[in-house]
Amino acid sequence: MPQLAQRVGRAKPSAIMLIAEKAKQLKAAGRDVISFSIGVPNFLPGEHVYAAARESLSHDSGQYGSNRGAEGLLDAFLRHIEALGLTGYGRMNLSIGIGAKQVLYNLAEAMLDEGDEICFAAPFWTTYRDIADIVGAKANILHCGPDQNYKLVPAQLEAALKRKPKVFLFNNPSNPTGMVYTREEIAALADVLVKYPDTWIITDDIYNSMVFDGIGYHNFVHVRPELKDRLVFVDSLSKTYGMPGWRVGFIAGPESVAKAVTTLNSNHITSIPEVITAAAVAALTGPQDVPQAKCAEFAAKRDTVMAALNAIPGVVCPRPQGAFYAFPDISCAFGKRHGEHTITDDVSFCAALLEAKGVACVPGSAFGEPRAMRISYTCPTAQLQPGLDRISQFFAELT
Ligand code: PLP
Repeated sequence: MPQLAQRVGRAKPSAIMLIAEKAKQLKAAGRDVISFSIGVPNFLPGEHVYAAARESLSHDSGQYGSNRGAEGLLDAFLRHIEALGLTGYGRMNLSIGIGAKQVLYNLAEAMLDEGDEICFAAPFWTTYRDIADIVGAKANILHCGPDQNYKLVPAQLEAALKRKPKVFLFNNPSNPTGMVYTREEIAALADVLVKYPDTWIITDDIYNSMVFDGIGYHNFVHVRPELKDRLVFVDSLSKTYGMPGWRVGFIAGPESVAKAVTTLNSNHITSIPEVITAAAVAALTGPQDVPQAKCAEFAAKRDTVMAALNAIPGVVCPRPQGAFYAFPDISCAFGKRHGEHTITDDVSFCAALLEAKGVACVPGSAFGEPRAMRISYTCPTAQLQPGLDRISQFFAELT
């Protein structure tokens, strides 16, 4: 039997999908399960998006499209990023792929050779480590615990950059913590970044429109425009527009990077489909009432989640200000028992919570922080409080 490539062995099955799968099985067996596990938006895009897709289908050419992306979509994305304060880009600075995940893989292939170093903060989106593993890069993970609000601080970044990593990958707002960096925090990190010109910077900012409390979305190039020639901004329609399955992701960055990513597109995917392109243009240029309403809904849900978590003795949860995640430190439960279950760590905690109360959360170790668990609060509003009540009861019953 021939052997599979080593990179396949390095890729691990997603811990999020494992929990979601277990929750599905319990549901199928008739259990009443509330899922706080998967980070998918619980809404659909506006009707204008479907109308554009239908209209496109009626005259679809059925041909391959541009490797970079259709001009109409590139222009729509340019207007979108200008509204975010990312100015001075043209079509040649962009490339479009099948979701942010695929464009991040392209970026890793474009920037990292085997053995090169990539650094990023933990807690991190699970795929970052997998991307590093698959391209054979070394990940330098910078641990940012709840004591520092899960945020990277300048001294940590400086220590990491002194090692001359090829890539610094940054995520704001954060999955899994929901943390959002203030303009001052971004400026302090940017002041460090300008000192290390040999490192590419990728900002995965796909939750940029889901920011609460008037804190605003900030990027390093807003405060240090000179970083623009080595910074790549990543965006996606998945979360903002309720379009995760439509698979559209974007980059904006230096022309050399956009060209490399486009060349990789030509080898990996060729292009995104015409009908998806039409829907994506409609999402970006049409009415923005759905994303705006959803942002307000998530902010209100965040308040509900925080009120419940703050009332549990021993649980510490830095207050999220964006996306739709909360990341409480649950380590006060380690060493305790719940009925038949012994809680030794985040994994046994989440397994016991699911078994005992039918609430699915993801163990923090999936994101590089084993003291915590992720609550994704995109569930229907009617399920939120009951799910949180069950978590509170679970803690109250620990012995
Ligand atoms: N980046 C982050 C931080 C994410 O949370 C996700 C999805 O969960 C992605 C990228 C991937 O998004 P897409 O659906 O566009 O591939």
